Amino acid sequence: MPQKSEHKISPAIVRLKNIDFWYWTRYHVEIRRTCPYRCVYCNTQLDIPMSGVRFLPGLPNSPRTIGLGLLSDPYHPDSRKNQTVANILEMLCEMQYPVNILTKSDMVTQHLDILQRLAKKDLVRVTLTILTPDEKLSAMLEGFSPSPLRRLETLKTLRNAGIPAGIAITPIIPYVTDSKEALSHLIRLAGEQGAAWALFSGFDPIPAIKDLPLLKPFYENAENEAALQKRYLHIKRFMVRLLNRENLPIRIPRITLKRFTNRYFSSLASECLFNISYLYELLDRELEMLRYRRAACDIEDLNVSLKALVAKGKLGNLKGINPEIEAIIKEVLFKGSSVFYDTLYRKAATGA
Ligand code: SF4
Repeated sequence: MPQKSEHKISPAIVRLKNIDFWYWTRYHVEIRRTCPYRCVYCNTQLDIPMSGVRFLPGLPNSPRTIGLGLLSDPYHPDSRKNQTVANILEMLCEMQYPVNILTKSDMVTQHLDILQRLAKKDLVRVTLTILTPDEKLSAMLEGFSPSPLRRLETLKTLRNAGIPAGIAITPIIPYVTDSKEALSHLIRLAGEQGAAWALFSGFDPIPAIKDLPLLKPFYENAENEAALQKRYLHIKRFMVRLLNRENLPIRIPRITLKRFTNRYFSSLASECLFNISYLYELLDRELEMLRYRRAACDIEDLNVSLKALVAKGKLGNLKGINPEIEAIIKEVLFKGSSVFYDTLYRKAATGA
């Protein structure tokens, strides 16, 4: 694929400084700079310069998870304009590169056959962004995006075809889409359509949102940052409990390729550390969150075998690996799970 400048993407390969631990990718393929769906709250519409990214002349030499749609939606509402996506997916399938797709578009089902081929090798995850089950509100916020109902049907089609797929309620917009009833309803609907995960995140409303005539009244009494943060704190606790009740994971399971042994074990360990850092974020324990995130980034970048380090008793010599983190890594490497993570998740999900 050709290298493109920051202002002329179609398509461009982007490398992030650090891994995006929501979608488990450091590499994105971006098909366009601006998104045809024109959601009113979206940064893509503001033409904000990308920072912390590098443009690459081609894909990484060995298979890495490639993100599709992490900056702007890869699918065009006009089905005739999605051949580029099909070509990219075919190429990734042929080269056996995992792909993590984020979209609001029902057009993703145009490529069901390729997605199924990828899914058979566990090389794909698809996440549909859905903010609200409220059709009217969605029409107001999400420009030309397909209706929430249509996206839920798309989710069902993907799941029925055997494709790992879930939803992202990103962002939850304070005072606008954060009613407990609406979120509970959305999660119930997503569960009924077979969602395999549900991500959620908060949002710092941009002026475009606050100034919408229909939404202005929501924000007139809640202008300050502290009030918004407090509100989100409340909602995120509610969301973790809700998702736990509905048995929906709060993270996308990472795609790890077993044939690259060193990287496989580093990925397993860093996935667990990133997930623990996220739980600490949900529990508002910033220091622990940062400690685990830093350790996860360091492990992610290791070029040596973690198991060999353990065998030589040198794991604890790595920067940022304290005895607690060392014990978690060993457990993940040799047992494939972490009691520490499970206990912390229960605490976040039930308060116990
Ligand atoms: S579909 Fe996604 S990328 Fe496109 S405008 Fe909406 S939020 Fe932004």
